[in-house]
Amino acid sequence: APIISFKHVSKVYSNGTVGLKDIDFSIPKGQFLVVVGLSGSGKSTLMRTINRMHEVTEGEVYVENEAVSAYKGRSLRTLRRRIGMIFQNFNLINRSSVEKNVLSGRVSYYPTWKSVMGLFSAEDKQKAVASLNRVNMSEKIYARADELSGGQQQRVAIARTLMQDPKIILADEPIASLDPLTTKTVMDILKRLNQEDGLTVIVNLHSVELAREYADRIVGLRAGELVYDEPISAVTEAD
Ligand code: ADP
Ligand code: ADP
Repeated sequence: APIISFKHVSKVYSNGTVGLKDIDFSIPKGQFLVVVGLSGSGKSTLMRTINRMHEVTEGEVYVENEAVSAYKGRSLRTLRRRIGMIFQNFNLINRSSVEKNVLSGRVSYYPTWKSVMGLFSAEDKQKAVASLNRVNMSEKIYARADELSGGQQQRVAIARTLMQDPKIILADEPIASLDPLTTKTVMDILKRLNQEDGLTVIVNLHSVELAREYADRIVGLRAGELVYDEPISAVTEAD
């Protein structure tokens, strides 16, 4: 069964801009999906309809067979807990330690009065170390976020989302501001979470080369429409 389904989804922004046009496809559990397309083609919009950062104007997105539009208020947090997201600009708290940044991933989704006050249990701290280990960043646990390189910051951002035990990771142009070497480190971590932990991973990318290297399947958007959808085995140089 698919973990995510788009049923005839369209999105028109309130200013009239068309974000998505009749998107209709499904993503099986455990897939490493790369979405390619020019800037403005709708990649980010598509991704943000999955965790309801954006509302659709027509159709419906389903996550684990439940309509995303049905989640309201408190229950929206339970949807978003299952879906980790990372961004091009990392979105870390620059002046805070790596540890605090990672722990904040826990507060957002499992708030307790102590954690809201910045008091974390030994269990939470162990989990932060474990998350940092998975991205090979535990030795930087007491560094300030803004002392790290871009690639290291993105790895901390991944560790932060691991604090919510996600089943799905959405990565919106995660390597757009990184150099080629760091890019590989970050993409390798996403691939490892996909292969070893069975997470479903969706990555928006500009680079078709990288897509071919990492994806199980590539979909392509153009002006909000899904114009390309192939398993990696069918993707050729000529495409
Ligand atoms: P991509 O991620 O591929 O660069 P986006 O999903 O960001 O594409 O954008 C798709 C289209 O929707 C573009 O025309 C963009 O300008 C427009 N758009 C994105 N966000 C908004 C918004 N909040 N309000 C209005 N238009 C938007
Ligand atoms: P939604 O319908 O998903 O809530 P909105 O249409 O309310 O999104 O847009 C959110 C905000 O982003 C608006 O203030 C909009 O003006 C702004 N915005 C407009 N164009 C763009 C764009 N191209 N990219 C990103 N944000 C944009």
